[in-house]
Amino acid sequence: MAVCEKVKGCPFFNEKMSNMPATAAGYKRKYCMGDNQNCARYMVLKKLGGDKVPVDLFPNQVEKAKMLIKEQTIVQ
Ligand code: SF4
Repeated sequence: MAVCEKVKGCPFFNEKMSNMPATAAGYKRKYCMGDNQNCARYMVLKKLGGDKVPVDLFPNQVEKAKMLIKEQTIVQ
């Protein structure tokens, strides 16, 4: 539980994503400043690499992240 190592270049944290949810500030507190291991973006980044993180993936979309990881793992 700490500040995410990826905050500097993270499009979500830096509000570079379109359609930022109204709950973004809450997600930043929850994930970026604490529970980064359970952030969907962080999960994909760690497992598949930064270039595999979808541009529209939000931190709370863990099921989507798990599915992407599973799909990529099967393909490889
Ligand atoms: S916790 Fe997720 S959204 Fe927040 S900075 Fe890290 S990778 Fe980005």
